[in-house]
Amino acid sequence: MKEINILWFKKDLRIYDNEALCEAIKDNDILPIYIIELDIWSQNTHSHRQWQFCKESLLDLRNAFNEIGQPLIFRTGNVIDIFDEIGSKFKVKGIYSHQETGDWLTYKRDQKVREWALSKNIIWKEFLQFSVFRGNLDRNNWSKKWQKNSEKNLLKAPLRINSINFDIGEIPSDEIFTFKKETCPGRMQGGRRKALERMEYFFSNKLDFYSKDISSPEKSFDSCTRLSPYICWGCISLKEIFKKANMSKNNNSKMLKSRLTWHCHFIQKLESEPEFEFKEYHPFFKNIREKNNELLYLWSSGNTGFPFIDACMRSLNFNGWINFRMRAMLMSFASYNLWLPWQDSGSELAKKFIDYEPGIHWNQCQMQSGTTSINTNRIYNPIKQGKDHDPKGEFIKKWVPELKKVTDTFIHEPWLLSKFNNEEYSKLEYIKPIVDISKTSREAREKIKEITQKKGYWDISKKIYLKHGSRKKSTINKRPKKSNNNKQIQYELNLGI
Ligand SMILES: Cc1cc2nc3c(=O)[nH]c(=O)nc-3n(C[C@H](O)[C@H](O)[C@H](O)COP(=O)(O)OP(=O)(O)OC[C@H]3O[C@@H](n4cnc5c(N)ncnc54)[C@H](O)[C@@H]3O)c2cc1C
Repeated sequence: MKEINILWFKKDLRIYDNEALCEAIKDNDILPIYIIELDIWSQNTHSHRQWQFCKESLLDLRNAFNEIGQPLIFRTGNVIDIFDEIGSKFKVKGIYSHQETGDWLTYKRDQKVREWALSKNIIWKEFLQFSVFRGNLDRNNWSKKWQKNSEKNLLKAPLRINSINFDIGEIPSDEIFTFKKETCPGRMQGGRRKALERMEYFFSNKLDFYSKDISSPEKSFDSCTRLSPYICWGCISLKEIFKKANMSKNNNSKMLKSRLTWHCHFIQKLESEPEFEFKEYHPFFKNIREKNNELLYLWSSGNTGFPFIDACMRSLNFNGWINFRMRAMLMSFASYNLWLPWQDSGSELAKKFIDYEPGIHWNQCQMQSGTTSINTNRIYNPIKQGKDHDPKGEFIKKWVPELKKVTDTFIHEPWLLSKFNNEEYSKLEYIKPIVDISKTSREAREKIKEITQKKGYWDISKKIYLKHGSRKKSTINKRPKKSNNNKQIQYELNLGI
């Protein structure tokens, strides 16, 4: 039997700067493979739009492999069954892949693959995909390790590899997936070529506007890097973007580099504690919120009666992407004003994001719901956010056409119109606000405060900080003031704001 190495692609869909590939070819011919795992794709965080992006990236990757001599293999099914199939035709010496910090299912799958490989005497070598580290981690040195890894040289793609005779397989039809088919007309296209185009466009034209436009839902659409889907699917490596930012003299590149650090900082937390996908950081916040499918639906479809919330949600539904601040505001509204479990609203958002990255996503969902206990809690006021970031209501009118004729004065609070012109107000075909924003914000603040005052709360919080908190000097220096009971110290600044 011919001896080979399997190169197992996960969310690292590129041949450039791919350490697993470079190492796999050192001592053997390789069989590069991507396995479409239906159990993973059928989770309520996954969606048709993500699959379309992934599929485009896979086709792009197959082209790249065709050019160097060995096509990328596609299989659908269970990873171990497929590795067994390969094992029946070849002597598999090693499996090479990137280290994945994915969701609970991929974590469990990796454990099974590890046991299987051990039982077959096959070495499974994993390489860093990001600067996220496995094993016992000393958080005090994390930043240094991050820096060192991110500054490593980029790895060239091989020019030629030997081809192996094996059925290359095809990408399955969309029909076999359980997710709902939907259109997401504004989403970005997958693949490395598109990723490089976007990166070039940003650095040549948009870096100057980055800090100024980052929070405006309209302007950020063009002025943010919008590289997150490409980073998430691995069409481009984080190191490539970091190097490009390092070469730039523009002040805004510092801001971008710090965001690239946050990327790994958040994923590191899930790597260290995979349960954060469904379990509250702080146990005192467990089950405090109530399920409500009707409110969840109204929020998720952009029908809350709050124009700026609805505009952001509808824009996200159409584009598969929205900027950080709007994600935070949408989540805050669901968690504080609608008092919905973050797991429910988080899954809805995950499905909508082309860039769904469990490590960032679930940490951010918890942060914006006040359950981490180590971040400053922020309850966004959607009316103020709208006035700040869309003063004339242009973004609102674009996405909520029901309000097209409403004047600037009332665009953020159309219900006020009823006091001046009830006839005009009653003609509006726009839903009335589904909650009272001031009352629900106040109640949420009180409920959270009550929990923080329970005996033992801050002792647990301190332990959480020691394991997961950021150690940046700026963060520690800016520790918020002590509270009235003198015990309350918020350890980690809300990094995203
Ligand atoms: C509730 C919520 C859920 C989120 N879910 C995701 C997710 O599933 N996937 C995801 O990639 N990001 C997520 N984010 C973080 C952030 O909103 C996106 O990374 C960012 O909007 C992507 O756009 P960009 O590529 O233009 O980012 P830029 O602002 O141009 O930043 C460049 C890169 O830095 C990283 N980055 C930027 N902001 C953050 C942040 N706050 N935390 C961690 N990394 C960051 C991303 O990799 C991003 O691509 C979430 C934020 C919130 C509030």
